[in-house]
Amino acid sequence: MVKPVHVMVITPHPDDAEFGVAGTVPRWTSEGKDVIYVVCTNGDKGTSDPNMKPDELARIREKEQLAAAKLLGVREVIFLRHPDQSLEDTPEFRKEIVRLLRMYKPETVVTADPYRRYVWHRDHRITGQVTLDAIFPYARDFHSYPDLLEEGLLPHAVKQVLLWGAPEPNYHTDITAAFATKVAALRCHKSQVGGNSFPRLEERLRERHKALAQDEDYELAEAFYRIEL
Ligand SMILES: [Zn+2]
Repeated sequence: MVKPVHVMVITPHPDDAEFGVAGTVPRWTSEGKDVIYVVCTNGDKGTSDPNMKPDELARIREKEQLAAAKLLGVREVIFLRHPDQSLEDTPEFRKEIVRLLRMYKPETVVTADPYRRYVWHRDHRITGQVTLDAIFPYARDFHSYPDLLEEGLLPHAVKQVLLWGAPEPNYHTDITAAFATKVAALRCHKSQVGGNSFPRLEERLRERHKALAQDEDYELAEAFYRIEL
C-alpha cells in the first residue's frame, strides 16, 4: 500500500513537466503536499546531435529529470520508459495510467492539454487524452478492471485536472516567487536547454509567464485549463 499523493503530474517527456508546471509545484510541496511525476516516454529522440545514441540520451534524460524533480521537492518519479514518439491510445497504456491513479490516489492530476490544435507533439496529445480517459471513467468505475480490483486497487475519483498548453486557459497560478526555481529546474535538462538549443531561456520564459499573467494582479503566471470532477 503506497501513501496517497495530492498531485500526480503525468508528463509525456522528461522536461515537459518543468515547462508546464514547475512554477506551481514548489507551492504545493512547500505546503507539505506530496507531488509525484509519471514520465511516459524516455525522450530518446529529443536531440539534433547525430552523434548522440538514443539509449544514451534516455539515460541522460532520466538523470536530468530526477535532478529537476529533486530541486522541486517531488516525492517520487515513475518512469514508464515508452520509446519517444511512440505513444498510442491503447488499452494497455490506459490501464497503466489507471493502475497508477488507483495506487497513488491523487486529488489533482496535471498533464498536457490534448486539444491544443494543429502543431502539437503527438506524445503530448496522446498522454493528455489517455490520462483524461483513465481518470474518467476507467479509474473511477468499479467494474472497469476486475483484475485490478482483485489486486486490491479500488476505484479512485480524481477531483481536479489541470492541463498545461491549453489554448484557452481558465485557471492561473502565481509563480512570481517560484520563477527562479522553475528556471533552475529547467536548467537541469541540459540535453534540451543547454548550449545554443534554447537561447535566452530565462528571458523568454519571463516574457511568456508575464503574458500569461496579463489579467492577474501579480507578475508571472502559469496557466491551465482546469476541470473539476
Ligand atoms: Zn514533450
